[in-house]
Amino acid sequence: RIEIHDRIHSTNSHLLEIARSSGDSGVVCLAEQQTGGRGRRGRQWVSPFGHNVYLSILWRFQSGPAGLNGLSLAMGVAVVRALRTLGIAEVGLKWPNDIYWRQRKLAGILIEVGGESGGPCHAVMGLGLNVFLPSRHAAAIDQAWVDLQAILADDAHALRNRLTAELLNHLLPALAEFESLTLAHFLDEWRSYDCMLHRPASVFLGEQRFDGEVAGVDAQGLLLLRQANGEIRAFASGEVSLRQS
Ligand code: ATP
Repeated sequence: RIEIHDRIHSTNSHLLEIARSSGDSGVVCLAEQQTGGRGRRGRQWVSPFGHNVYLSILWRFQSGPAGLNGLSLAMGVAVVRALRTLGIAEVGLKWPNDIYWRQRKLAGILIEVGGESGGPCHAVMGLGLNVFLPSRHAAAIDQAWVDLQAILADDAHALRNRLTAELLNHLLPALAEFESLTLAHFLDEWRSYDCMLHRPASVFLGEQRFDGEVAGVDAQGLLLLRQANGEIRAFASGEVSLRQS
C-alpha cells in the first residue's frame, strides 16, 4: 500500500502510528513536505514542499529488535543501488545512515524500531533525499549538503517519479533480503561504498569525543576507529555521531 500526502508532520511518525494501531506491513508513505522531518536524536531533516523525496516504509520482522542492528547499512546499500540505476555515480555511504556525494550529504536514513524485546518487531525505515533544495531552506543545515539538481546540472525534478520507483524497487526487496540473509549479505557492497574509510574522523558519544582514523565496519556493522595509540575501538550506532576531522 502506498500513501502519498501533500503535507505531513513526519512520514516516519505517521507509519509508527499505523504500526501501533494495525498489523500492517509493507506500507509506504510519501510526502511532498514534512513539517516536522526528523533525523537521528531529534535533529531536524529540512523538508520543504515540492521537490524532494520523503519516503518511509513500515516493515514487520519475525526476529526481535536485536536482529535489526545494521539495517540502516543495508538500506544505504539499497539507496546507492537505486541511484546507480539512474546513472548517479560517485555516491558514497557514511556510517551509519548517510548517503554522500563527493563529501556532501545527499540523503539520510532514519530507522525506528518498535515491538517486544525478543518477540516479533516492526521497523520504520525513513529516507530523505534532496532532489532540489532551494538554498533559502538550507540555512538550518550545519554541514555540507548537495541535491540531485546540482549533481546532474539538469532538471532533476523530472527524474523524481522514476527515482522514487527505483528506490522502492530496491528498498522493498532489500528489507526481505535483510530479514533472510542478514547484514552479511550487504557488507562487502557497503564496504565498497564507504566514503570515510581511512579518513581522519571524530566520534562523539554524549560528552565524549574520540579521534582517530576510520578502519571500516565489523561483521555486526559496528564502526571501527583506529586511535592514535593504534588501538581499534568499536562503536554502535545508537548514540554516536561521526564527523570527518
Ligand atoms: P551526522 O550527519 O552528523 O552524522 P546524523 O546522522 O545524526 O548526523 P541525520 O539524522 O542523518 O544526522 O540528519 C540530521 C542532520 O542532517 C541535521 O542535523 C543536518 O546537519 C543535516 N540535514 C538536515 N536536513 C538536511 C537535508 N535536507 N539535506 C542534507 N542534510 C540535512
